[in-house]
Amino acid sequence: MALGSFQTVPWSSLGHSKGTPLCPVGFLGRADRAPFTRNFASEAVCSSSSVLGAGLLAISSLLATRATVRRSSGTLRRCKPGSRNSQSATAIPEIQESGPVVQQQPVRPSSDPYNPNFRSAAQFAEAYPSSEKMYHEVSYEPTGEVLQVPFRRVHLTDKTPGFEHLDLYDTSGPLGCDPRHGIPKLRAQWVAARSDQLEEGSGAAVTQMHYAKRGLITQEMAFVAAREGMEPEFVRSEVARGRAVMPLNRNHPEAEPMIIGRKFKVKINANIGNSAVASNIEEEVEKLQWSCLWGADNIMDLSTGRHIHETREWIIRNSPIPVGTVPIYQAFEKVGGDIAKLTWEVFRETLIEQAEQGVDYWTIHAGLLFRFVPLTAKRLTGIVSRGGSIHAKLCMISGEENFAYQHWDDILEICSKYDITLSIGDGLRPGCIRDANDEAQFNELKVQGHLTRRAWEKDVQVMNEGPGHVPLHKIPQNMRNQLEWCSEAPFYTLGPLTTDIAPGYDHITSAIGAANIGAMGTAMLCYVTPKEHLGLPNREDVKAGIIAYSIAAHAADLAKEHPGAQTRDDMLSKARFEFRWNDQFNLSLDPVTARKMHDETLPTDSSKDSKFCSMCGPKFCSMKITEDVRAYAKANGYEEETESMEETKEFVNVTSGAFADVGDTVFLPIPEDV
Ligand code: SF4
Repeated sequence: MALGSFQTVPWSSLGHSKGTPLCPVGFLGRADRAPFTRNFASEAVCSSSSVLGAGLLAISSLLATRATVRRSSGTLRRCKPGSRNSQSATAIPEIQESGPVVQQQPVRPSSDPYNPNFRSAAQFAEAYPSSEKMYHEVSYEPTGEVLQVPFRRVHLTDKTPGFEHLDLYDTSGPLGCDPRHGIPKLRAQWVAARSDQLEEGSGAAVTQMHYAKRGLITQEMAFVAAREGMEPEFVRSEVARGRAVMPLNRNHPEAEPMIIGRKFKVKINANIGNSAVASNIEEEVEKLQWSCLWGADNIMDLSTGRHIHETREWIIRNSPIPVGTVPIYQAFEKVGGDIAKLTWEVFRETLIEQAEQGVDYWTIHAGLLFRFVPLTAKRLTGIVSRGGSIHAKLCMISGEENFAYQHWDDILEICSKYDITLSIGDGLRPGCIRDANDEAQFNELKVQGHLTRRAWEKDVQVMNEGPGHVPLHKIPQNMRNQLEWCSEAPFYTLGPLTTDIAPGYDHITSAIGAANIGAMGTAMLCYVTPKEHLGLPNREDVKAGIIAYSIAAHAADLAKEHPGAQTRDDMLSKARFEFRWNDQFNLSLDPVTARKMHDETLPTDSSKDSKFCSMCGPKFCSMKITEDVRAYAKANGYEEETESMEETKEFVNVTSGAFADVGDTVFLPIPEDV
């Protein structure tokens, strides 16, 4: 399908002025649809760390703490602007030490989950100086509709034609919205129009895979194609064969369509969510905004603490990126942490509740079978997946097979009705280097493959989750097995962490593994923050994790020679070599931090034109010396490349002579203003 006209417009021309909440629909309509009949929240359930200790004893100890159950009532409601919790949309954000962006107002979290005290949202302009939020206007021919596809334009000082700016993939979402109102519902009409075409009670799937298999290029696919720089037909074919997924619940119309597949840009996921001992709704929405700003493609709300349902509602209504969950967490909360009461019926009810809210993808540990549990007994760290450990204990207590496996067809039916992507969990992933690639892990992966093909028969989109903790030399086996056993469904890995010795720095130990497995074909990388194994991440940890994983994902794109991936590197390197310091900052992943580091030693404006930095100083700046060498060669007619040895020798002789003339020194004259 041809895309037709293609134009570029700035954010402001769309009428989305900063500071003016424009989101037309609040929470009331959606909340009214949600089944709130069992809307429990507990004070405490399980530890935020998922490491449980060795073998089966550890599984038993996990659930020793019983939760205190507290019922919350009612539905979320629209909060009127200007109410006592109104935020100042025009407040000027202050620059924080590690970056700009969120104003630290002295606002206490509200105890009312329906009326949070949101702080000022993350600020695009502060995070990305010299960048502009813009939209490509893409014509969707079947309806004549114009799609607004976001991107970020980095304005540069380079006067070379074609180098005046660079357009980048952008996940920041609509700007200037008041979190109390949520963000605009981009897909609402697309979803509604397709629903109108369905025959009442037909039971037909409404998934992107369903449409793709029937040859239909949806608005979402055209949107993704423009975002990725691919043909819409290619997007459709990859979704149809299951090699890519587009997690887009029909009840999350705020989501901007994106795709996860190894033929596309490697994506990253950020985990947020409260625990029983830390965080609140305000902080979690702030983490969401922070994640989108810094480049997360997806988030997972892994809340296990208070107000799980309400926290998720605020997150979804404010999220321009797909939202995933692990539903067994909330089901576990609903039964107050009493695992004997955790039945399929409770789990199913939780699935429906989350489906109605708009969760885009679910981690469900259906591949963890009863007979695999004893295989973990000899492990050093046993079962480290929270969801996996709950299912394992359920199997042992009930003496029955994992109910998620037994009810797989029922789960598929729900997913096909809402278009929820399944991310089949790796409940037996290794939790330490010693346990990597063992029998338990790979047995579960084989079952994931079986479940994947069953899902495809029902047109349900699927990803497979992978490890975990794996040393570098054992990573390739994971990728090979997943491709073969799971029929090339997108692989979604947590890191993997490549060593266990660096608590406090596990965003680095894992980004190394993530870059490796991404280069081999993993489609999405779940970030790890510096707080991993130590505590619940705050927004600074979230940022550190996202930056680390943006590096890993981009390194993987480069290694795969993904079309256009290298352009940003080349433009940044050109800016660096030409001493356009501001352009170098602005092209980086974190411009403010790059500038701050430079300015620690050379803070003046004039230093932004200097042909050196404090790393080597003016005498030893190799790039300046190279610039001089090139200038000399050009002045003496040696600027053309030659393969002639004679000419090369002559060039060397001449340059050596020139070098001798200046006293065999590489020192350059010190600029007067230093
Ligand atoms: S001084 Fe060294 S680090 Fe700085 S720009 Fe020159 S070569 Fe690069």
